[in-house]
Amino acid sequence: MKIAFYDTRPYDMLWFDPLLKEADIEPQYIQNRLDKNTVGYAHEADAICIFVNDHCDKEVIERLDEMNIKLVLLRCAGYNNVDLKCCEKHGIKVYRVPAYSPAAVAEYAVAMLLSLNRKVYKAYGRTRNFNFNIDGLIGFDMRGKTAGIIGTGKIGQMAIEILKGFGMEVIAYDLYPNKDLDVEYVDLPQMYARADVISLHCPLTPETKYIIDRGAIKRMKKNVILINTSRGELIETRALIDGINDGIIGGVGLDVYEDEEDYFYEDWSDKIMKDRDLARLITFPNVIVTSHQAFLTSEALHQIAQTTIDNVHSYLNDEETPNRVIAPEY
Ligand code: NAD
Repeated sequence: MKIAFYDTRPYDMLWFDPLLKEADIEPQYIQNRLDKNTVGYAHEADAICIFVNDHCDKEVIERLDEMNIKLVLLRCAGYNNVDLKCCEKHGIKVYRVPAYSPAAVAEYAVAMLLSLNRKVYKAYGRTRNFNFNIDGLIGFDMRGKTAGIIGTGKIGQMAIEILKGFGMEVIAYDLYPNKDLDVEYVDLPQMYARADVISLHCPLTPETKYIIDRGAIKRMKKNVILINTSRGELIETRALIDGINDGIIGGVGLDVYEDEEDYFYEDWSDKIMKDRDLARLITFPNVIVTSHQAFLTSEALHQIAQTTIDNVHSYLNDEETPNRVIAPEY
């Protein structure tokens, strides 16, 4: 069997190679992202393996079908970049890695929160220049403050556990509240009125696109810290920028950005940044932007590779698995 891996980085090969060898699967590593122009690179493959910013849309899917490729393996949890209905129509099966390391992402969200609150990123910049002044680095105690978690799935639950460990009061919102979870569920207006910190852990769906919009931001507590390690389009960027300018939002940690695909994972340090909103966000002193790296731990990379190989076996043996992604009924 041959699998074409799109948007691959050296770390992907490091974790996939030994497992692929063991499973007798031949990899074709492609650095480009999947789109209508690059889909043809996979013409000799039996399956494609894609990541968060690959485009598996109608045009790509029709071409996959022509090339008799009936298997799409996502090496990530989110699947908003795949037209599932179209895949179904063409008899293409889609599998994902739903939980490679919820801890990796939850811990990263909290790392962003701590860094923003206690200004670690600013302090580091100062002491690198032998500036040991601590003016302007005041944070707040997390203990006793309120954290709002939107999306209480695997990652959200981990975040709740960690934040409770800090002695925070944690409130949550989910379309499908989990009765077994020891957390107070509230509606979104209540969360915005009460939370000192809000962290997003729901998937990107038609309902969650711009869940944080202008109206939501207006309801938030002054100086709230907002963390997004989920998907960029959960936040309306222009409204976020205005919320920061208006002094409502006190800190923002973005590991994802709504138009990230042209920039994230690439070195733009020698080029002109064309995206004005991203450039503006990066200039704010209370915003941290990172390049969709919350998943990046060795445990998560191993799990991504292992689950992807398991998904291939499930496909080949026609076994049922919860990792199969079926088109939702919207
Ligand atoms: P999950 O499926 O376990 O949990 C998602 C939760 O969101 C579920 O409880 C679900 O009921 C809830 N939800 C669905 N629709 C909702 C809505 N309209 N409003 C509120 N809640 C809603 O997923 P997970 O493993 O916890 O991952 C969450 C998200 O994190 C993924 O969808 C992905 O976008 C993102 N993610 C990011 C990275 C990264 O590196 N930055 C890595 C992995 C996952």
